[in-house]
Amino acid sequence: MAHVTYSYDAPVSQSLFDRAAAVTPGGVNSPVRAFRAVGGTPRFMVSGTGPYLTDADGREYVDLVCSWGPMILGHSHPDVIAAVQEAVGRGTSFGTPGADEVALAEEIVDRIAPVERVRLVSSGTEATMSAIRLARGFTRRAKVIKFAGCYHGHVDALLASAGSGVATFGLPDTPGVTGAQAGDTIVLPYNDLDAVRAAFAANEGEIACVITEASAGNMGVVPPLPGFNLGLKDLCESNGALYISDEVMTGFRVSRTGWYGIDGVTPDLMTFGKVMGGGFPAAAFGGRKDVMDHLAPVGPVYQAGTLSGNPIATAAGVAQLRLLDDAAYAHVDAASERLRGLVSEALTKEGVAHRVNVAGNMFSVFFTDKPVTDYDSAKAQETFRFTAFFQSMLEQGVYLPPSAFESWFLSTAHDDAAIQRIADALPAAARAAAEATEDEATA
Ligand SMILES: *Cc1c(COP(=O)(O)O)cnc(C)c1O
Repeated sequence: MAHVTYSYDAPVSQSLFDRAAAVTPGGVNSPVRAFRAVGGTPRFMVSGTGPYLTDADGREYVDLVCSWGPMILGHSHPDVIAAVQEAVGRGTSFGTPGADEVALAEEIVDRIAPVERVRLVSSGTEATMSAIRLARGFTRRAKVIKFAGCYHGHVDALLASAGSGVATFGLPDTPGVTGAQAGDTIVLPYNDLDAVRAAFAANEGEIACVITEASAGNMGVVPPLPGFNLGLKDLCESNGALYISDEVMTGFRVSRTGWYGIDGVTPDLMTFGKVMGGGFPAAAFGGRKDVMDHLAPVGPVYQAGTLSGNPIATAAGVAQLRLLDDAAYAHVDAASERLRGLVSEALTKEGVAHRVNVAGNMFSVFFTDKPVTDYDSAKAQETFRFTAFFQSMLEQGVYLPPSAFESWFLSTAHDDAAIQRIADALPAAARAAAEATEDEATA
């Protein structure tokens, strides 16, 4: 891991990190936050407004993480804050049905045609875990196909060859997941329909479902090749398996109707999270009525949650989704396109080989001169160049995801001033990427 020393420091963040490390493994509650892949001190953020974050040392950053996607309206959007304050004033959890969870479910069902019934949960992990259980219960089959580099939360059965932190740290299949839990998971290369066809043939009548990110974002952005998602759907249909599209990252982020609105392929089940919670823990899975009606209390497949449909989280989610009209997405799309152009221009000027992969308004910069279409090609990039690029941007007040295997996220709050601040930082960061050597990053 990197032990480079940087020309600036963050003493308050460092002392918080030291305290955190004394009570929490690695000082964080989610691994990628620890900056291990890029080195240096993770910034402890204390507030956010619009496109900006302020850390514990009082430094301001243009935020290109947006809480890993959820903050698509920027930070502290007044309408979301007002909805939360109003909800908090009425109490924080009742353990009964509530009006805002109905409104949030209606927002989802109204937007996403394949979702006839939806159930709310508290995290994307819970959503995919529950969707898999439901698919197995519905089909009475055990096996699950997933793709290398796709991340579906830290569900035991789905951690094999996962993206996100598992990709960032190059972890092998994680200890703690037993052979029994992972044994029914078939991991295939992303964007390889022939491999899926072969797996169905080799496991006839045994595959419950194929789960895929609607457009992969957790090995960096790697969109499905034309026809891939449709091919998955057709193969599932002809083999009696369910097609689960994981839209936890893309849902309500890349369009009003998520990736479904872009490729139009109809899944049997879908999962959502991130944007739909407005910065609170709210997620969901939903789809075909006949499948969803296998869930308790209508059907036999059990699934539950003490804080599912929490009144604060659902109030925030409803407020956020109602603000996300076509104009909002047009703004984020335009900001993303402009930023991609600026990044590419700066890197090209310094002669840095790179590929910018795009999925709607999500994008990643891969430091490679070869196309990135799956996990192997994503891993072939020169991550040491990203490390240098990241540190230079951070020093100049731009907060990128601290990993080369993540999407960059923008919001409706990213205006000309915010983009200009990023543009001003790019030449030095591109130069740092050009000058970086592998030794330095791993010394
Ligand atoms: C973030 C993510 C998850 C997991 O969601 P959590 O809320 O972190 O549990 C699942 N699937 C995809 C595609 C994601 O991006």
